[in-house]
Amino acid sequence: MNILSPIVTFQNLHEVRRLCHWGPVVALSVIAMCSSMAVLDSIIWYWPLDTTGGSINFIMLINWSVLILYNYFNAMFLGPGRIPLEWKPDNQQDTAYLQFCRLCQGYKAPRSHHCRKCDRCVMKMDHHCPWINNCCGHHNHAYFTSFLLLAPLGCIHAAFIFIMTMYTELYDRVSFGWSSVKIDMGAVRRVHHPIMPFGVAPFAATLFALGLALGTTIAVGMLFVIQMKVILRNKTSVEVWIEEKARDRIQYYQTGEEFIFPYDLGSRWENFKQVFTWSGSPEGDGIEWPIHEKCHQYTLTVEQLKQKADKRVRSVQYRAVEDYNGACCPTGKGFNTFLRTPCSEEPRITLIKGETIYATRGTKWWMYGDKVLTEEQAKAGARVRGWFPRQCVEKCHYDTANNSAPPEEKKEQ
Ligand SMILES: [Zn+2]
Ligand SMILES: [Zn+2]
Repeated sequence: MNILSPIVTFQNLHEVRRLCHWGPVVALSVIAMCSSMAVLDSIIWYWPLDTTGGSINFIMLINWSVLILYNYFNAMFLGPGRIPLEWKPDNQQDTAYLQFCRLCQGYKAPRSHHCRKCDRCVMKMDHHCPWINNCCGHHNHAYFTSFLLLAPLGCIHAAFIFIMTMYTELYDRVSFGWSSVKIDMGAVRRVHHPIMPFGVAPFAATLFALGLALGTTIAVGMLFVIQMKVILRNKTSVEVWIEEKARDRIQYYQTGEEFIFPYDLGSRWENFKQVFTWSGSPEGDGIEWPIHEKCHQYTLTVEQLKQKADKRVRSVQYRAVEDYNGACCPTGKGFNTFLRTPCSEEPRITLIKGETIYATRGTKWWMYGDKVLTEEQAKAGARVRGWFPRQCVEKCHYDTANNSAPPEEKKEQ
């Protein structure tokens, strides 16, 4: 099994330029700080290499770092796969079911979307991730998701080392008045002679690394859960939104259609195997996809065309039910809203209860859209567009959309 092939493929070497961006610089610095501090704390103070446990601990720490970096670099350098420029389907008639990308001068293959940052149509695009400075899509979905799992696991191990190092070393050194609060540390204390004393600098560095490790565990761990939920339904974050709009369109026009998401193969295990394989590369060529028996290759692209034709569903109408001050990480809007603020430089917009917003995309906790302005403001060409917490808005039902009474509906969370 040549598992190293993706990382050393010559044609990916030019991708090294992707490192020159704040995302990879910050991510790699955090990985470097946490892993080097965990190794130093272990071998100098907490668990020296001259014990069996110490050696196993050391090997495990190195192992985490290697696995994390392997998946991280593969996610970054391998990339999601791009639709060839000027691509068109084999059968000329099929172009009727596809959108055309003017920037790539080609048709958008099923599940692909044009990424403005990458400036190309991306295979099975999930999102553009600033931390890998690349899109997450078809080819790197598994590496990206494995990274999201391994990083918190490695951080938990490192956090354990940091806490134990500080605890045992402080217990050794601190004598003032602590004798009255004796804690039996017999289980973790061993008599050893560290190469250097545990001073203020190592303490501060360890404490800082602990903060980084715990923060990473929570933030990245939540991203992993979100990605897995999507993968087990064989969807992407973009398709979740398309599906929401499809249901909305069908409900509004009462067309009686039944929208079946075409790529969900019915079993979580089957869906999982589409993305995660032993070879590391996902099933399929990124253009043709296995589909649900009641669907055809272009079920989703036809739905996208219908949505495009239907101006009404290009955006979904929402009404503000809570004020929002425009803060990036607002307090009082729920834990997830605070933590899962979109990693983008796009603005946030303030909301006042009762205002109407046309949302064009969103995540589970945040939405992006245009505020509906007064006629005067609109005439003056003003535009208020940006992110706002999903918790502060409520979807307008079309029969009540023009009615000033807010719909009485229970909100999530
Ligand atoms: Zn394109
Ligand atoms: Zn991109």
